[in-house]
Amino acid sequence: MTPERYAKLRGVLERRQPTLTVLMEQVNKPHNFSAILRSCDAVGVLGAHAVAPRGGLPTYSATSGSAEKWVHVETHPDALSAIGTLQSRGFQVLATHLSARAVDYRDLDYTRPTCVLLGAEKWGVSQEAADAADHNVVIPMLGMVQSLNVSVAAATILFEAQRQRLAAGLYERPQLEVADLERRLFEWAYPDLAPLYRERGEPYPALSEDGQILRG
Ligand code: SAM
Repeated sequence: MTPERYAKLRGVLERRQPTLTVLMEQVNKPHNFSAILRSCDAVGVLGAHAVAPRGGLPTYSATSGSAEKWVHVETHPDALSAIGTLQSRGFQVLATHLSARAVDYRDLDYTRPTCVLLGAEKWGVSQEAADAADHNVVIPMLGMVQSLNVSVAAATILFEAQRQRLAAGLYERPQLEVADLERRLFEWAYPDLAPLYRERGEPYPALSEDGQILRG
């Protein structure tokens, strides 16, 4: 672990936004799934949510360069229970869904705890999930085609959330609790060692300012 790498990991965690997330409802194409997580990482989403399509989550590789390594995905059995869980955690759920009650995605406040609900290419967001969401949102389409690729729609909305959160100063101070941030930092910095400490039921060791393990 070089000091530069450690500083980068810390900086990224200090900008993570635990109150911004996505819920992917049966997004079944691996390249879309990966692209959405890549946008999540770029705007500072801490963790994402998914309802797996039949056959399981789209296969993806958690190689060092991929976003999947940095954005954990929590799975849920179905969209309604996922939405209920997120709402009980204080999130407003915004379903990307064209309906009579849909509003322009730019008209909402993304500094609030927010989850963006995304649907699969073929089916979109299910009607029951759209009904259960707090709002339905659309990205206005002024051309010939009716919809965007789901990962493009995700990026468009997530970067609006980033714009609002930057303006509100939410990236200027860590949004994670200190202990949570330090725990995640150890797990990111020492991914091979962290499981060994957990298996032994031992706390993670303290790290020096430049990320070296302090033996004591
Ligand atoms: N046939 C599907 C339908 O009727 O909903 C189209 C799904 S679209 C290709 C895939 C997903 O991308 C949607 O479920 C939604 O999450 C997102 N999406 C695409 N275009 C969008 C738009 N203009 N506004 C909001 N979300 C959009």
